[in-house]
Amino acid sequence: MIIVLLGPPGAGKGTQARQIQELYGLPQISTGDLFRAAMGSDSPLGRSVKGYIESGRLVPDEVTSAVVAERIAQPDCRKGFMLDGFPRTLPQAQALDALLAERSLPLDAVLYFDVSDAVAIERLSGRRTCSRCNANYHERHMPPKQAGRCDRCGSALTQRPDDQPETIRKRLQVYAQQTRALVEEYDRRGLLHRIASDEAPEKVTASVSAALAKVQAGRSLA
Ligand code: AMP
Repeated sequence: MIIVLLGPPGAGKGTQARQIQELYGLPQISTGDLFRAAMGSDSPLGRSVKGYIESGRLVPDEVTSAVVAERIAQPDCRKGFMLDGFPRTLPQAQALDALLAERSLPLDAVLYFDVSDAVAIERLSGRRTCSRCNANYHERHMPPKQAGRCDRCGSALTQRPDDQPETIRKRLQVYAQQTRALVEEYDRRGLLHRIASDEAPEKVTASVSAALAKVQAGRSLA
């Protein structure tokens, strides 16, 4: 299965991607995580994307599409994958179509995480992330057992620099200007599954599972 997770920052894409990875064994390809890893190792890619990420702007399409092309060529993607945070622009969607066409692979579904601005802002501003294993927490809704420490590996929890109020506003604005058009585009292509995402994570996971069951049923009929 090849699926795209679409939605604004704070919609819960990352949280749901980890659930889908566990339930369906699909590798999660998060362009944000790939960029942050590159920044962490201070690679040339990391240095070139830092300014964009810290100010909440999008990394240029060619850079982003090249990173995705390299990642989906890895052996763990042979049986399928899910893209979390890519594509985010129409040119990126076209680049994805070309990458899949080269491999004669279909895009099976786009899960659109539909969330209100108020819920997105509340989620992002309370989000805390493990500096080592990337596990996500929320100050109020999903606090760690020990304050400031990851339940899984014990490392320190940090707040992403782009989860500051000013940058959150910018990221939501960028989403509205550059990414929201993809909802219509994929709907037109009959690929969109709308997931009501203001709900608690378990409820959203139930909606995701129902949508993916439909997608799988459609695949076995094809
Ligand atoms: P995320 O972790 O998905 O919220 O992404 C964090 C940041 O990485 C975004 O605000 C962008 O600066 C950058 N980024 C992630 N994915 C993309 C993409 N598909 N296109 C351009 N920039 C991206």
